[in-house]
Amino acid sequence: MTHAATRLAAVKPSASAWISQAARAARARGEDVIDLGLGEPDFDTPEHIIEAAHAAAKAGETRYPPTDGTARLKAAIIAKFAHENALTYAPDQVIVSNGAKQVIFNAMMATLEPGDEVILPAPYFGQYKDIVLILGGVPVAVPCPAADGFRLTAARLEAAMTTRTRWLFLNLPSNPAGAVYSDAELVALGEVLGNHPRVLVLSDEIYEHILFDDRLFRSFAAACPALMNRVLTVNGVSKAYAMTGWRIGYGAGHPDLIAAMTKVQSQISSGACAIAQAAAAAALEGTQDEVRRFCKAFEARRDLVVARVADIPGLTLDPPGGAFYAFIGCAGLIGASTPDGRRIESDADVTAWLLKAGGIAAVPGSAYGLSPFFRISTAASQTVLATAMDRIEAAVAQLVRTEETGDQE
Ligand code: PMP
Repeated sequence: MTHAATRLAAVKPSASAWISQAARAARARGEDVIDLGLGEPDFDTPEHIIEAAHAAAKAGETRYPPTDGTARLKAAIIAKFAHENALTYAPDQVIVSNGAKQVIFNAMMATLEPGDEVILPAPYFGQYKDIVLILGGVPVAVPCPAADGFRLTAARLEAAMTTRTRWLFLNLPSNPAGAVYSDAELVALGEVLGNHPRVLVLSDEIYEHILFDDRLFRSFAAACPALMNRVLTVNGVSKAYAMTGWRIGYGAGHPDLIAAMTKVQSQISSGACAIAQAAAAAALEGTQDEVRRFCKAFEARRDLVVARVADIPGLTLDPPGGAFYAFIGCAGLIGASTPDGRRIESDADVTAWLLKAGGIAAVPGSAYGLSPFFRISTAASQTVLATAMDRIEAAVAQLVRTEETGDQE
């Protein structure tokens, strides 16, 4: 395209886009590729949710819905927040959008002035950065090392604050690292924010229900009630209910922010699909048995991957506390050589090698702002994951590691 607007120039094609393109090309050549790059559950949407969509279509819920969401879905969201998160919201504090992604886009479009800074604890969901860049903001990545459990500490947050800071993004639990915070850690972050009244918090809680080892989930706004007016809580049905294709996400926060976000959405997409909203309401109102079943399955897969990585020299992985990814450390492979003598310089080289030698599509840590790591999705059956781990092990074993290779952490 020759006439793309300059605002798009800041957004570079992501490493994950490159990997999925390379995986598609390898498949087209007839190679057997296991794609672990994807960020969506492999389960089907539960039947009662599909039935609710069918019933809504039959009942004539086929017209433009209100821009900020149907009354029924907003009521279901408010009840969900009250019962699951101990958070009280009024209808004018809730917006329904085309996925959590649009909630985030609306919020940034509604609030960012050029040059405003957005703190992103790294590793972060790559789209956060791109959304901020498209809208003229400045993403400020704050590295959160594996030694800190990939969690942002109060000290690192304080150090990242400037007079231009506008937002802090949190992702509980996080994509890609599965980082989970204790209540005390959230409170400590809240204390820092207490000293910076201009800063808003976007708490993306879309992986809330995919939480392991019997942990209890705590919403950021519930942990720091004094900040309630400054927190935009983001959630959606994509991950918990295996509904990525239905495109329903929601946000809850101060009425003025929600009104501004609704103004943005009215110019982009209007209200989200009425039928999908009926399905999302059924998901929130109905049995949560399937959600628990999905979570148990993701936990067993997490255990499989953690056990297998432990046996692969050069790779490291502490058990993720939630979400359905493994963010695997590969410092031990940097400096190694491929059998044809090429040196592995970066995590992008590692993922290129895994694709070439193992037929595994994984995403380099650079796509999430922290290297050297690579992310695999654990949203695949245990059989597929076991085969994938065999292939990763074999591909890594072909690399020639010397005394100087990487940190052997
Ligand atoms: N936030 C995070 C952290 C995600 O990983 C994703 C999906 N990959 C989203 C938001 C977007 O979800 P949705 O399907 O609701 O747009």
